Amino acid sequence: MPLLTDRFGRVHDYIRISVTDRCNLRCVYCMPEEGMTFLPHEKVLSKDEIIDFMKIMVGYGIKKVRITGGEPLLRTDIVDIIAGLSAIPEIEDIAVTTNAMYLVKKAEALKEAGLTRVNISLDSLQEDRFKTITRGGRLQKVLDGIAKAEEVGFFPIKLNVVLIKGQNDDEILDFLEFTRDKDINIRFIEYMPIGHAGDSWKKQYLSLQTIFDACDEAGFAYQPVDSIRGNGPSENFRLEGAKGTFGLIHPVSSHFCASCNRLRLTADGYIKACLYWDEEMNIRPLIKDPEKLMELVQQSIDNKPESHEMAIALQDEMQSHKPTTRRMSQIGG
Ligand code: SAM
Ligand code: SF4
Repeated sequence: MPLLTDRFGRVHDYIRISVTDRCNLRCVYCMPEEGMTFLPHEKVLSKDEIIDFMKIMVGYGIKKVRITGGEPLLRTDIVDIIAGLSAIPEIEDIAVTTNAMYLVKKAEALKEAGLTRVNISLDSLQEDRFKTITRGGRLQKVLDGIAKAEEVGFFPIKLNVVLIKGQNDDEILDFLEFTRDKDINIRFIEYMPIGHAGDSWKKQYLSLQTIFDACDEAGFAYQPVDSIRGNGPSENFRLEGAKGTFGLIHPVSSHFCASCNRLRLTADGYIKACLYWDEEMNIRPLIKDPEKLMELVQQSIDNKPESHEMAIALQDEMQSHKPTTRRMSQIGG
């Protein structure tokens, strides 16, 4: 089987597909409160286009897929998308990243359709704060969503926590405590400058060394662990005696580009080989022409830079390429 290999020997076997750029929340690090323009419906890939695209991609070694957005559970055909993907035998793992506002309602149908696992975003365990960070989300809905995900048997369940200086960095220990009795994986993620050119992300960015410092200060002992399914770039640890684990994803302070195995497909059909740079290629017109489509995908991989330069953005230094102007909600994270 031909594999999707780049100039640096990185083999791409994982794709993150954004199925919508719309969202029912407006998280402060992801989208502005107002002024976003969304894709008109006809610009968004249909269920059949997504599934046809994936039928081609599995012939080139793609075997893991994550559905993201915007908020993927806003798609009224999300269950059919998952069912269509799970009918492709070569796909070994289908995950969804969600804000969980509709998870209680949709978890059972998603599980039956073949969804393997969910990542749930949860940036505060305090109701008011959660509402402020998400600009309107309800914490209880996420907690109910987590309980429902456990009940229907999604495993492992991962919670994504973007660490934001001055907004949730005093909750690190509370999040760690959350892993003591629950077999879940809490992943602390560094705040990334995606589509944030010229605004204030730097003031709110914190290196994940902060997590180790908080553990040391509180006297929390922890050990590294390495066997978490869908591990990706996360380094994982367990507090002594805890059922669950915590992971650190630190693209800014210490990037993991050398082991990058992922591609991204935007809701309007553009392949992005790197989350950070603006280069992208429109595959939508080629879904009925697999050979040409794969030429374009390979071209995109051939042009993939060796690494992103988020650390350089942090220092305000000149960068080698142009960063994307898409917001995270328009790429999918
Ligand atoms: N709406 C879904 C959700 O929030 O889980 C899926 C889409 S969201 C763009 C995917 C992930 O990206 C979320 O876990 C979110 O916290 C993360 N994210 C968004 N903007 C980010 C940023 N600037 N830095 C780091 N992570 C970010
Ligand atoms: Fe929506 Fe997810 Fe972005 Fe929050 S992080 S605004 S839930 S897309």
